[in-house]
Formats: sequence, C-alpha cells, structure tokens
Amino acid sequence: MTNRNDERAPRLGAEPVPSSLEPAPPSLALDDKIRLLTGADNWRTAAEGRLGLRPLAMSDGPAGVRGIVMDERVPSSSLPCPSALGATWDPALVAEVGAALGAEARGKDIDVLLAPTVHLMRTPLGGRGFECFSEDPVLTAGIAAAYVRGVQSAGVACAIKHYLCNESETQRWTYDVHVAGTALRELYLVPFEACVRDAGVAVVMAGYNAVNGATMTENTPLLTGVLKDEWGFAGVVLSDWHAARSTEASALAGLDLAMPGPDGPWGERLAAAVRAGRVPEGLIDDKLTRLRHVAAQVGAREPSGQSSFYINNDVTDGLEVARAAGPADPALLRRAAAAAFTLVRNEDGALPLELTGPRGVRRLALIGPNAVHPVSQGGGSAAVPQASLFTPGDALRAALASMTGATGQAELTVEPGCVTWEAVPQPEPSALTDPVSGGAGVRLEFRAAGGDLLAAEHRSATMFTWWEGLPDGVGWGGDGRILLRTRFRATSDGPHLIGAGGVGQLTLTVDDTVQAQGRTPTPADPVEAMVRPGEVRATVPLRAGQVAELEVSLLPENWKQGPISIRLGVVPAPDEDALLDAAVRAAGDADAAVVVVGSGPAAESEGYDRPGLALTGRQDELVRRVAAVNDRTIVVVNAGMPVLTPWADDVAAVGWAWLPGQAMGDALADVLLGRAEPGGRLPVTLPAAEADCPVLHANPVDGVLRYDEGLLIGYRGFDRAGTEPRFPFGHGLGYTTWALDSMATGEAAGENLEVTVVARNTGSRPGRDVIQVYVAPPPGGDPSRPVRTLAGFASVTAAPGETVEVRIAVPGRAFARWDEAADGWVYPPGEYTVYAGHSSRDLPLSVQVVRT
Ligand code: BGC
Repeated sequence: MTNRNDERAPRLGAEPVPSSLEPAPPSLALDDKIRLLTGADNWRTAAEGRLGLRPLAMSDGPAGVRGIVMDERVPSSSLPCPSALGATWDPALVAEVGAALGAEARGKDIDVLLAPTVHLMRTPLGGRGFECFSEDPVLTAGIAAAYVRGVQSAGVACAIKHYLCNESETQRWTYDVHVAGTALRELYLVPFEACVRDAGVAVVMAGYNAVNGATMTENTPLLTGVLKDEWGFAGVVLSDWHAARSTEASALAGLDLAMPGPDGPWGERLAAAVRAGRVPEGLIDDKLTRLRHVAAQVGAREPSGQSSFYINNDVTDGLEVARAAGPADPALLRRAAAAAFTLVRNEDGALPLELTGPRGVRRLALIGPNAVHPVSQGGGSAAVPQASLFTPGDALRAALASMTGATGQAELTVEPGCVTWEAVPQPEPSALTDPVSGGAGVRLEFRAAGGDLLAAEHRSATMFTWWEGLPDGVGWGGDGRILLRTRFRATSDGPHLIGAGGVGQLTLTVDDTVQAQGRTPTPADPVEAMVRPGEVRATVPLRAGQVAELEVSLLPENWKQGPISIRLGVVPAPDEDALLDAAVRAAGDADAAVVVVGSGPAAESEGYDRPGLALTGRQDELVRRVAAVNDRTIVVVNAGMPVLTPWADDVAAVGWAWLPGQAMGDALADVLLGRAEPGGRLPVTLPAAEADCPVLHANPVDGVLRYDEGLLIGYRGFDRAGTEPRFPFGHGLGYTTWALDSMATGEAAGENLEVTVVARNTGSRPGRDVIQVYVAPPPGGDPSRPVRTLAGFASVTAAPGETVEVRIAVPGRAFARWDEAADGWVYPPGEYTVYAGHSSRDLPLSVQVVRT
C-alpha cells in the first residue's frame, strides 16, 4: 500500500497572497480593524476610507441573484435550480450560465454571490436538495467548479456554502453531524476542495451546524486545518447568517467575517479578548488581509477599483470574460432548462410529439396542477423575484399557434386536475386594483400603533418580505402594523377562499367586515416566515364581475432577527372531484395527454425537510386515471428532487423538468415538440420506494445526526444493497440512440488515467450523449465501501450514423481512499475495473487496470 502526498498544487487565485503583493494595512486602531470584520448591515460590510475599501455587497443565489431586497420592482433572472444544472452534466454550459449570473450580479452592484450550495443530496428528502447539484461528489465538484469559474469571470466572488455537512434542514441551526473521516474526505469535502483548489473560489461560508462536536464557525480542524492550512485557501470565511455565536472560539478557529451586522458576537468583545491576550492581534490582521484580498478581487479597493478576477487567467480559464453587467439572456436560460430536462422513459417514441402524419397529434390535453401553477423555483434564500414566467400552458399555446400547416397544428386544452397548494394561491395580478391609486395591484400601508400612516406604497405583488428597511416602529419589536389593501374582481361565481398570511397577529377584512383573525404560530425556522407563513382564512361567496375590497392587516411577530412577510391569497374554492373529472374527460378526447405533476408551492424549501417522497394530494390518482383513458400519456415531473412514480410503467413517457426557473414553459414546449433534445441525465437516484433509500429521514436524535451509512449514500447505497432503483443515477434519454463501440485506457499520466471511448449515434437525429466512467476497486474489498464510483464523464455530439471518440480523464483520486489511521490518502495496489456506459446501472464496457 502506498501513501503519497496529494500534490495537486493550488492554482493562482487560491494561493495565499504573496506578501510583496499585499502591502501591510496602514496602521488602524484595533477597534477599527475589528469593526470591519462584522457586517455593517444585513447584506454589506463596512467601508474604511483609510484602506481604500468600499463596502462589499452580498446577495443570495444560487438560482439567480436576488440583490439586497426582495422586491418585484427589482426583478431577477430565475435560473434552472442547481439540481437541474447538475442534470446537464455539462460544466461548459454551467460556466456559461454562471458567467451570465455574475454579470447580472454586477448589474445589481453585488460583489459576493452567496452561492453555490455544494452539499451532496444525502437524502432525497432534504429541503434544500434542489439547491445541490447531485448525490455524487465527482459530478458535484465538476459542476460546482464550473459555476464558480463562470460567476467569478464576471468579477463577482462566490461564497460556496455551507461548510460543512449541512445536508438537511431539520434542526439545522444546532445539529451535530457525527461523521467518519473517510466520508468527509471521500464525499462531503470533495466539492469544497475542487472549488478552492481548482476554481479559486474567493469566499467560503461556514454553516450553522456542528461537525464531530465543534460548531462549524468554531471548527478549528476543518476551518484552519483543512481549508486554510492544507488547501491554502487565501480568501474569506464568512459565517452563515447569525451562525457566529461565540467571540473567541470563532475568531480563533478561523472565521474571518461575522454576518450580518452591525450587532454580533465580535465588536468590543473581540477587541477586549485581543487586549487581554486571549486572541492574537496577528489573527485579526490575517482576517483583514483576507478581506482586503477579496475586496481587491471584486474591485472594491482603490486605487484600481477593478476586479482582479478579470486578469487572473487561471480562474477564468477558457471562459470569455463577461464584462457587460446586466440580466441574463433569456435564450440561455431556456437552452439550459431544456438541457437539464431528463427523459427517463420514452416508449415507442412517444416524444417528441409529432403533429403531422399518421401519429400526428391534433388535440393535445395539458393537465396537472403544475401545468397551471408551475413551481419554477425552490423556497428560502434561493428564491428571487422572478422577471417573468411563461406557464407551460401559455408557452405550449404560443408554440402551437406559431406552427404552420406544414408542421401541423393542434388544439390545446388545459386542466389542473387537482390542487396541491397548502396556502391559498396568490391571485392573478390582473384581478387586483390599488384602492387609492386605481392602478393594477395593491396598496401597502405602514401604520403606527395608534393608526397614523407612516408610509404607503403602490405595489404589484401579493407577497412581500423584508429583512430590514421597514419604517421605524414597524417590525422587529415595533408595535406598528403592515396593511395590504386591494380590490379583487372575481371571474367566476361561487365560494372563494381568501387567505391572509404572515407571522404575527392577522386580520382579514372583506368589504369592511372582519372575516377572519388570529395569531399565527412562530415557525421553527425564521426562513419559514418568507416561505410558508401561517394564514387565517375565510370563505366568501362572490359572483363573476363582483369587486370585493380586501384588507390584510399584520402586527408582525416580535422577533429580533428573521424576515417579515405579508401575503394575500384568493382562489375559487376548488371542487376536486369536478377538477379530476374534467381532466380525465379532456385526456379522453385528446390524441396525447401531457400531465405536469410535482412539488406543490413551498414543498421544497430551506428551513424544513420534506415529510415523504409521494406526490401530494390526488396527483397519483390523476396520472392513473388519465393513463387509463389515453395511451399516449406523457408525465412531466416538476420537482427539484426525487418523487415516487408508482405509475411509471403505465404511461408512455416520463421526464423530470426539475425547478427550471423562468424558462420553464418555453423549455418544456421545446422539448415536447422536439425543437430541443432533452439533455439531462439523473444527478440523483430515483427510488422505487421510500424504504429503498440508503438514507431517508434526517432527524437528529438528542441533537446528533449520525452519518452511519458512511460512504453509502445515493447509488453507492443502492449498489451495495443490490436494490434496483426505479431509474438509476446517470440515466437519461435523448431523441437519438447510441452505441458504445469500444473503450481503451491510455498511458497513466502520473496518477491520472486517460480513458478513450468510441461512441456511435445509431439513431436518426443529431444528439448529445453523456459518457460516464466508473471505477470498481479490486474484488474482495471492504463491504462498507462502494461497489463502484463515478470517476469522470464527458459529452459527445454526433450526427446520425457518426462515430466519435471521447477522452475522459480519470484522476488518481479515483483509485485512492482515505485512511483514517494514516490521516492521508492511500492508493491500494491491485486490479481495478474501469467501466464506461450511460448510467450507474448501464455499463456495457469495461477494462481491467492494474495499479501498483
Ligand atoms: C442561509 C444561507 C443564506 C443566508 C443569507 C441563511 O439562512 O442558510 O444559505 O445565504 O441565510 O440569506
């Protein structure tokens, strides 16, 4: 057994800044230095003229750049969610999307994007699973590094998050992950390491949770030991929001910046600890040097004021530097959403839909709750005020209308079939009028306890969130109220459900009569206030054309930190039997039925995990009943993570749209009509049953979350247990077919191995194939280790009949394992099997490779 140093040199941009390039800061008083190490407010650092340092502005990602406010008047491009980006298996495309995101961040004057989230999908129920790229560390690392390179090429720093092991949400502020060093090194650290060493990420965010007994903001072995000393990370470690909860322990462990501010555990208390000799002043200087380094990288430092990412070729490697600041190109987001669409079943060429010829579709039924109310993004800090959303119905109707006689024409009917919402859906903006200005939308009023009007605004949304910026006396301990007032015009006769949402004391008034009131519960996690605040409801009869005066009044919960939201919902009270019957009738009358099912609004979010994998409400029944009357039923799953598909064998096609962002409708129309190939491959295993998952619920016991499965998450667990997944990791179909003709391994270049695969397009359309290489260790190994693991991947494109050769680099690490006793990587010698194929369960080619 050999024990070699892992000598991959950190690239430029990740190296400690040579002292010759970093003049010592002009001598600042200790308190002035420490002031810079806590945020000045919720989203910005403090300025220091003597250092030529302007504030650094930060905003969440990763599926868009929200900016420092959540405001429909400052909309953001909404990207395919990270699990969708993972599904592309296409680092070049992800870098392009990242560069566009960076440029949009620049346009919003954002310096640090709080993204990407580089956790692994340890459990399919993780609330933030949609924010992760994959269940596999190699795929996650490749996509994450590309994302970081892309964003940083635009002169914006990425803050990868949340270091480390924040794979689930239940008790996320406090749980202590007990995890073995092998799993840390071979799984959870891998994407962070790639972003630091290969992509030169500028900022790392330390999470709320603890790992092996030490809170991550106080975790010396992981912050200083691994990240800074071993990997040579020269950037800033910032805390997740309010995650810094100690003074000395966090300062000594390697945290550099406590967010948000201006309050926090550092300030005067840290200065006192330095004066008392308990924290060396040199450590404060080091934190400041790191902050100045990142400020220089994003152009927040005089004299140049120019981002040094622009000139750091290693970081921008191969990317055209995105200098123009502004919104992402919608065509790019549409292309990316189609490239992520993962077709897992397609019997008898059900897709793409043909509109001409004997199989031509003349009548198409578009059915399902998510066809009408698509869930384009996940909840929590990743959510953005979307610039635009074209629903699947709108997009398909427009696409079909644009077709000529030669390409065929089809009639479209749209039916929701059932409902999946829990909070009353927000009304169409076109149904609302501001009662004061008379313009479309609502009026927001901020009133003091005595009723005096403090401020008012005309707005066009029906849900609002603030982290700061409310008039004095309203929110965060104030006794003032927020009022949302509007005139709602009904478009149908019958009972209407009206919901007033928010955390605090709520009153819902309809036409000057109080219809509902009450105090909603304080959520377990503050972020729930912006995703699924409590609601008081009333059912009110309305006639089509009738106008009702609605008012939601909120006295916000008296909490110091956490967002404040207010929300209005109005919907005709649904009759689910009638909805189902109408959908089944439409499907029976159509030549093909597309059923869009999936997550309900707020089902996938930061702040809480999902309770189970089954589709909610009557969605399974809907699919079954539609499939019973239409043998060309195509199911599209609109979810960021796995759901169970018990009807999959009974329908013609199944595809995963993920949470595709603003381009959802157009990308779906492109894929269904064959204008774009569905490009995705599963970045996560789709199980047949909950019980099959290696890890399901992640509920801490007495505050401890044990990662007892060790290395066996995702397909590694399915393979070791010999369990058949419903659809395996890596699986996905395009619109052509492929044969893999041969495979060979080249000369080992140092520790690395080059694999060459010859692929042939055997179908009738041009297409793209993703070729995956897996490595299995010598036989007879340790049963706690995976049977085989993904080691590399690459994509090819070819015309019908064309043969192409692709080279895939397999890094030496694929043949290594972490040795806890030796505290290092070991490279066991022996005969390895290197496989090539199309998924973790479809590996037709293999070669034996002897490692010495
Ligand atoms: C989330 C982070 C986010 C931060 C700021 C935290 O609660 O965990 O991902 O960046 O809030 O919104």
